[in-house]
Amino acid sequence: MIDLRSDTVTKPTEVMRRAAYEAEVGDDVYGEDPTVNKLEEMAADLLGKEAALFVTSGTQGNQLAALTHARPGNEVILEANSHIFQYEGGAFSVFSGVQTRTIQGNRGAMNPSDVAAAIRGDDVHEPETSLICLENTHNKAGGAIVPLENMQAIYQIAKENQVAVHLDGARLFNAVIASGISAKEYASYTDTVQFCLSKGLGAPVGSIIAGEERFIKRARKWRKRLGGGLRQAGIIAAPGIVALRDNVERLTEDHQHASELAEGLLNIRNLSLEAIVETNIVLMNVKETGLTAKEFLLKLKDQGVLAVPFGPYTVRFVTNYGVKKEDIIKALVAVQAIV
Ligand SMILES: *Cc1c(COP(=O)(O)O)cnc(C)c1O
Repeated sequence: MIDLRSDTVTKPTEVMRRAAYEAEVGDDVYGEDPTVNKLEEMAADLLGKEAALFVTSGTQGNQLAALTHARPGNEVILEANSHIFQYEGGAFSVFSGVQTRTIQGNRGAMNPSDVAAAIRGDDVHEPETSLICLENTHNKAGGAIVPLENMQAIYQIAKENQVAVHLDGARLFNAVIASGISAKEYASYTDTVQFCLSKGLGAPVGSIIAGEERFIKRARKWRKRLGGGLRQAGIIAAPGIVALRDNVERLTEDHQHASELAEGLLNIRNLSLEAIVETNIVLMNVKETGLTAKEFLLKLKDQGVLAVPFGPYTVRFVTNYGVKKEDIIKALVAVQAIV
């Protein structure tokens, strides 16, 4: 099977497995796991933040942002198709007791003036805006890179209004590699940032949330409350260190494969792309074939290729390090056979 469902399907490499086996460990709830501490320092340095925290998942990292930055009854501004709003089970309202306010973006980027207009005043009737969440790259917008200038403009508005900014950077390193803008530069226009070790970077488990020391101290407590305080977590943090050391630059290969896939699809009758391809995600529209996305995917599976539906007529492909150039060619042959 050629698995293009997500970049989460990657299996840990030999080097990662060995690193896990050999990891020095301690009790991380006591702050005594040297491998976790090393990963957290490495991540904080990469992002130019004071501190970082190893968390179980991207979803948990995002929850810690809302729990720490906001209070129940506050309002959080989000892009309408953001992962936090669409795919985290309403967790912001469940755990943080916040109300979400969505703004429709353009390729995942909210217009700064829309954000400014959505920030609440001090009217006694209104919830207080305490947090703005950004997403880069933007999953639902097809792995779109949110421009640095857009982040900068929103950050400035946020600071003028004493509102915090959190970046859901599950795929931040895809943006870094494709744009040539460093993680530090992106992170400089956000108070806190979450990124996934277990997507394109290929680690088996975990995410990082980074920010100021005092933020991380409070987030650590929230992580404990959520049951996310782990013990000898160096076993799972060690592959994360390998991921950051070895797997960032190679994302360019995934991007190359995604653009080859996109180019090939454009040459097939009745197929179109829903978004230009900037990173490792391809959104294909199958409406003109007369099939729904689900029907198309069943046929595709018979041909040995897996992808996911992303709307009634939208199929999402995500390239990852388990997918080679030959697999892209085979996937195109499979799609051609269906159409
Ligand atoms: C995958 C993803 C998450 C959540 O990460 P998990 O580790 O699956 O919880 C959050 N945001 C975006 C944009 C994602 O793609």
